Amino acid sequence: MKAVVLKSGREKSVLRRHPWIFSGALAVGEADAGEIVAVESSRGERLGYAAFSPASQIRARMLAFAPDVVPDEEFIAARVRAAVALRGKMAANAGVRLVNAENDFLPGLVADCYAGWVVLEPTSAFAERFRHVVAKALMDALPGCRGVAARCDAEVRGKEGLSVTPGLEILAGEEPPREIEIVENGMRLLIDVRAGHKTGFYLDQRDARAAVAKIASGCDVLNCFSFTGGFGIAAALNCAKSVLQIDASQAAVDLSRRNAALNGVEAIVTSECADVFKYLRLCRDAGRTFDLIVLDPPKFAESKSQIERAARGYKDINLLAMKLLRPGGRLATFSCSGAITPEFFDTILAEAATDAKRDFQIVERTGQPFDHPVALSFPEGRYLKGVVLREHGRGNRQEGV
Ligand code: SAH
Repeated sequence: MKAVVLKSGREKSVLRRHPWIFSGALAVGEADAGEIVAVESSRGERLGYAAFSPASQIRARMLAFAPDVVPDEEFIAARVRAAVALRGKMAANAGVRLVNAENDFLPGLVADCYAGWVVLEPTSAFAERFRHVVAKALMDALPGCRGVAARCDAEVRGKEGLSVTPGLEILAGEEPPREIEIVENGMRLLIDVRAGHKTGFYLDQRDARAAVAKIASGCDVLNCFSFTGGFGIAAALNCAKSVLQIDASQAAVDLSRRNAALNGVEAIVTSECADVFKYLRLCRDAGRTFDLIVLDPPKFAESKSQIERAARGYKDINLLAMKLLRPGGRLATFSCSGAITPEFFDTILAEAATDAKRDFQIVERTGQPFDHPVALSFPEGRYLKGVVLREHGRGNRQEGV
């Protein structure tokens, strides 16, 4: 087995069990893409084992933090079994994240299950190299698994030197159908695992969709960045008066309409293809108001260098949404940028409220659901934040919107 050697003084993150070794921390290190290597300190101690990524800034990803456990294919299969076991028994038609990458100690590997079909998203050389081992382990470990396929079109694959290609690679079992129907909290949803974002759907917002549904009764709802309509349909199923879904992707809007019909709520749900930044301004200029607004934008900050620009984006949409709320209305607002801390997100919201000249109370916070665990040694795994704000109803509304 090849070994990589850390520079003197650069052992700290490995000793803290953080999974990433950056290229600058290595004194010696060469291996193939995804190859498992021993990790040694500058004094020659064996600290554990990692998977090598020759093209990436994250040059190696730790798999084991002890010298005596040498990772092999069975080791990887056991990690897959442990991840599946954590999710417990699931309904045949459920959508569940089975493997949450570093947080399930399988670096760069996401596996989402939609009604028995599993879609892998390998974004590390390790996940790419061992995807067939993972697929077999999933077929064995998951009762009722119908097939395992890989999506290899995530842009971040480029950073690992992996090809960015559209379509699905079938790894085991049956090929998934063009659309898969799952049921989430009683809501039926069609998933396009070939062209839908990520692996096809945003399972991470399951709990947040339930939280929004709970407060939607009787409301006129504006669901911004609606993708295939989850928040809005959940609201409609919980007796919202009307729902307006806005997304910039025509394919997502089309699927959102079909999802509304599938749930029998098409009479109260309207889906439009538009840019949210512009649409909120149109609503402002037209004097439109809502009882409940959802803001679930894509990641505005990919890294720390983009924090300022991202903060401006978050403030902009939240300020606009706050001004469109009726007295006592609610804003369910989210950020999936890991680089924006929960505290900073609160600060951005507070600044938006100040500029909107309105008072708000935090009535609920949402985070990652049970199938998106966070490894304690990997704070980067905590990325999703949600805040439900209630307008106090006695602000300076004479200031207008
Ligand atoms: N709320 C969704 C997930 C949203 S993902 C759910 O529950 O499933 C973010 C969505 O924002 C994507 O569907 C993307 O198409 C859309 N989007 C990105 N930029 C946008 C913009 N400027 N205006 C409108 N939609 C946008």
